[in-house]
Amino acid sequence: FWRKVLIIYAHQEPKSLNGSLKNLAVEELSKQGCNVTTSDLYAMQFEPRATRNDIIGCLHNSEHFDYGVESWEAYKRRCLASDLIEEQRKVQVADLVIFQFPLYWFSMPAIMKGWIDRVLVQGFAHNFPQCYDDGLLKNKLALLSFTTGGDEEMFSKGGVSGDIRYLLWPIQHGIMHFCGFKVLAPQICFAPKYVTEEKRKEMLTSWAQRLKTIWEEKPINCTPELYFK
Ligand code: FAD
Ligand code: ZN
Repeated sequence: FWRKVLIIYAHQEPKSLNGSLKNLAVEELSKQGCNVTTSDLYAMQFEPRATRNDIIGCLHNSEHFDYGVESWEAYKRRCLASDLIEEQRKVQVADLVIFQFPLYWFSMPAIMKGWIDRVLVQGFAHNFPQCYDDGLLKNKLALLSFTTGGDEEMFSKGGVSGDIRYLLWPIQHGIMHFCGFKVLAPQICFAPKYVTEEKRKEMLTSWAQRLKTIWEEKPINCTPELYFK
């Protein structure tokens, strides 16, 4: 059957390595017959702020604004802002969601964090106790594909930045697994600015290569032990 892939992409420059990685994924997955949708967050001027503007009409409690409660209630009443409903629709139909971004401060760029804050609301992505393996987005796969400034040595256990797994923890476990996603191994391009053109070409080729058999991959065993053992 035709699998659906959603790429959440956060880079300002189409000619960046992130832009190339994104384009490659669109090309390769489309070639396989997948249906690929991209949310190009900067091009969309995606609103990253979680505010009361996200709730159309009356608030559940106008005396004391609580974004978590209001977005949950608005989701149930179908009163969320239209840009959120549109993104939720894309997630809902996706079999795989790829997050493509440059590492910013050991995390994702603010615009992508804003997408997470506003789109993955309670009722849609999770609804305690429906979280982790019972998260509402179970049966979907998620994959982080990102680039760094620091090299692999810096992001090793004894390196100055510490093991890369420490920064995968809040995103892969705290966000994706929490919402029920099965997490595929991350695709990391270390220090693309500081390597040779040849090495960059290799980074692109290995991503394209991996995507050819992506549907055969088993998810990682995303538990606290994986990150901190
Ligand atoms: P680019 O500079 O766009 O690309 C690298 C090179 O690849 C360029 O020369 C480009 O021309 C070339 N290229 C593009 N397409 C191709 C192609 N098809 N074939 C061959 N070459 C190609 N880094 C960290 O390690 N830790 C941090 O905490 C961190 N925090 C940051 C916070 C901020 C606010 C910022 C701005 C940066 C931070 N960085 C950090 C650095 C950042 O992660 C890197 O600069 C970024 O990941 C590099 O990716 P890029 O796509 O922007 O690279
Ligand atoms: Zn996990």
